[in-house]
Amino acid sequence: MKIIYKKIKLIELLNNEKNLGFVPTMGCIHKGHLSLVKKSKKSTKKTIVSIFVNRPQFNKKADFNKYPKTIKKDIRLLRNLKVDYLYMPQERDIYPNGFTKNIEISSFAKKLCGKFRPGHFQAVVDVIDRFIKIIKPKKIFMGEKDFQQLKIVEEFIYKKYKNTFIVNCKTIREKNGMAISSRNVLLSLKEKNISGLIYRFLKKNKLKIINNDYNNNFIKNYILKLGATKIDYVKVLKINKTFRSSVKKNNKRIFIAYYLRQVRLIDNF
Ligand code: AMP
Repeated sequence: MKIIYKKIKLIELLNNEKNLGFVPTMGCIHKGHLSLVKKSKKSTKKTIVSIFVNRPQFNKKADFNKYPKTIKKDIRLLRNLKVDYLYMPQERDIYPNGFTKNIEISSFAKKLCGKFRPGHFQAVVDVIDRFIKIIKPKKIFMGEKDFQQLKIVEEFIYKKYKNTFIVNCKTIREKNGMAISSRNVLLSLKEKNISGLIYRFLKKNKLKIINNDYNNNFIKNYILKLGATKIDYVKVLKINKTFRSSVKKNNKRIFIAYYLRQVRLIDNF
């Protein structure tokens, strides 16, 4: 595995790669990330992973500062999977002239997390756009765990790039059902148990929830009683209302964002 820190070096190195799979990450590599890497390795000739904690997509400085970093372990895990390239750029290499302020993205960005994290999805799309210009990947592998992000990026890329495609990857879960996330290392065992209980409650009652048998306050109160500190939203959305979805027509999905102490978790089923 080649580790590259400089944009110029990477562009030179990738000059002849026509069938590249790209897995963008913020590091603290876990089984979710590794499933994306495995999928990329199966369907492209070479795989490049990036580790870059993208400051503009964080709404709170403290959240950015405490984002977990486990670089040595990350390198070992990616090396074990025989990733071809690992790109770990400096911020000035990605943003030589600062961040893009007025990037236009899907109206889906106004819903769910977009309501609670102003500018977040613009910043995600901006950084992916910058990475595409450097890497020119054929496929980008993204997780359904961040479903809204995936769809917003997919729409942006579909409109702007004719030779780059997004590949959806299933959410990988812990034994108790909670989605694996880099932020999980910030949780206590008790908090992980609560997250598992919330998952089981929503999963078990999915049909009733999407059929509106429970009112939203009942669901929220139940989740608070299970131990969530705060809930940003629990919402059912029809996925075909979003962009060119690969999921079945009229497929309804439950989306949730909640806090355990200061740690914000999202999931969807
Ligand atoms: P992150 O490092 O959190 O920005 O995530 C990088 C990529 O990994 C994104 O496309 C995420 O959706 C994906 N990802 C994160 N957690 C999981 C998971 N548990 N299962 C599948 N994909 C995931």
